[in-house]
Amino acid sequence: MIPLACLLLIVAPPQVVIVTPRGETIVPIATERGSSAVAAPLLARPLGLSAALEGSRATVALGGAIFVFQLGAPFVRAGGVVYGLVGEPYVARDTLFLPLHWLADCVPRALGARYHWNAVATRLEELPVAGAVAAAPPPAATAPAAAPVPPPVGRPANAPNPLTGLRHHHAVVIDPGHGGADPGNPGRFFSGGLVEKDITLAVARLLRAELTRRGIAALLTRTSDTLIDLADRGASCRAECDLFVSIHVNAMPAGRSVERTSGVETYFLSDAKTEDQERVAKMENDALRFESTPTGGSRGPVDFILKDLQLNEYLRESARLAELVQDKAVAVHPGGDRGVQQAGFMVLTTARRPAILVETGFATNRTDAAFLGSSLGQHKIASAIADGIVAYLLEFERKLVAAPAGGP
Ligand SMILES: [Zn+2]
Repeated sequence: MIPLACLLLIVAPPQVVIVTPRGETIVPIATERGSSAVAAPLLARPLGLSAALEGSRATVALGGAIFVFQLGAPFVRAGGVVYGLVGEPYVARDTLFLPLHWLADCVPRALGARYHWNAVATRLEELPVAGAVAAAPPPAATAPAAAPVPPPVGRPANAPNPLTGLRHHHAVVIDPGHGGADPGNPGRFFSGGLVEKDITLAVARLLRAELTRRGIAALLTRTSDTLIDLADRGASCRAECDLFVSIHVNAMPAGRSVERTSGVETYFLSDAKTEDQERVAKMENDALRFESTPTGGSRGPVDFILKDLQLNEYLRESARLAELVQDKAVAVHPGGDRGVQQAGFMVLTTARRPAILVETGFATNRTDAAFLGSSLGQHKIASAIADGIVAYLLEFERKLVAAPAGGP
């Protein structure tokens, strides 16, 4: 029998309170998909929110801002900024559900002068706007100067994490390559009809679990079999993201010692120096042709890369991250060490943080494919990548301490 206290904890109805100058409304929190979400129609009246669903795209207007969601994708776009989300928007019983994280985190960040999230009371508070009519979104300039939203509680933690030794809060965006209409490489030696997009998602989920276990926040660019534009994947690693890792599976083209080539290699963004690096970048950038909105593609792949390479201020950090991840991955991989490589991957160009792409092995090699297709192999590679990330973050924290404050 379950003690009553526990039962209460289990069944206590989770809810969010919307507090506006017009009154208080209680909105239940749904957890049917694993993460907390709220039904958009229930926010319509208290917040004056409107939502439109068009195919897999949900457009939500709130407080003068437009938020564009993609069903099944853990991010939202607003005013040219991409915010990572815990959980994804979904439709159930003909109703659009939005991640609670969006309401609690993105709305106050995007509309800081207008909304405040009270995490303790699970309350979203709409701040009064002088002389404003509820339905008319006020221009930002006339909004009262509100205190900036404080950073999440416990952000800089000074006691080292007992598992990793890390002292600060860190967040990582993990990108499972391909998805939806884009299967990635066909996975010649994978069993059960698996293709690259299945392996990348499985490894990415395990990597998220491994990072979470180590006290590092981790977000996936996709958590299901959907296609996310290359530019959006990297863009989800900006403000509150320390680094970006894209997961892929390699393949050799027919003819060229196709079955003999094996091993793991880790890339950082730079121009390709060898034919092999060029081949891998071309293969991964090819995902562009599956994209429905040709935003990134219209610039042309070459232009895209050359232009953004100049903006890549994290070249040295990315190379170091690649080195540390590669070191750990090699130690568990049956296929051997193909080293740290560099090439022009579009998915890495939009990340404004150190960014790497791990080619976790070759689907065209029997040993690599068996390793990547197995639960044990996936666990091993995910855990190794997590170890590499921790090693990098430890170095990063040591540099923070060593850097003289206010020095030239
Ligand atoms: Zn790939």
